[in-house]
Amino acid sequence: MKVVIALGSNLGDRTATLDSAVASLRKIIDVEKVSTYIETAPVGGPEQPDYLNAVLIGESELEPIQLLFAMQEIELLAGRERIERWGARTLDLDLIVAGDTEMDTELLTLPHPRAHERRFVLDPWLEIDPGAFLPGKGEVRLLP
Ligand code: ATP
Ligand code: MG
Ligand code: MG
Repeated sequence: MKVVIALGSNLGDRTATLDSAVASLRKIIDVEKVSTYIETAPVGGPEQPDYLNAVLIGESELEPIQLLFAMQEIELLAGRERIERWGARTLDLDLIVAGDTEMDTELLTLPHPRAHERRFVLDPWLEIDPGAFLPGKGEVRLLP
């Protein structure tokens, strides 16, 4: 199953955090491509430092919920603390797409419900995947 994961960090050594998150994800995903790391201004939430964002695509045999749990463990390993919604964090790993899965449960919504309106997801995704596609939403285009 094809998976697309968005990575973000805006606390601590952001590059090192993203590097080690990618290394951890390689253990559960057959990683095909990792975008460049781009610096972005925070969108919404409280005032906070700029982010380093990236997108990774690959293949995984895990069920989407198992993938999410594994990603949450990697966030915790990076010292992620949940203080306020959309606040600063050492690492955020969001599952954007898992195959053609469309679901909306308390724990997991697929495709990610806000990905299509976020340049910090779409730009790095299109860089590595010109055929980027969001099930239920269609082909990914660059936002103006
Ligand atoms: P946003 O989802 O707007 O990017 P966030 O990444 O800051 O916000 P988190 O605190 O990382 O939000 O996650 C909140 C909850 O979102 C998690 O506990 C998780 O269960 C849920 N969630 C639902 N769908 C997804 C998804 N596709 N990827 C990651 N988390 C998800
Ligand atoms: Mg997020
Ligand atoms: Mg998240």
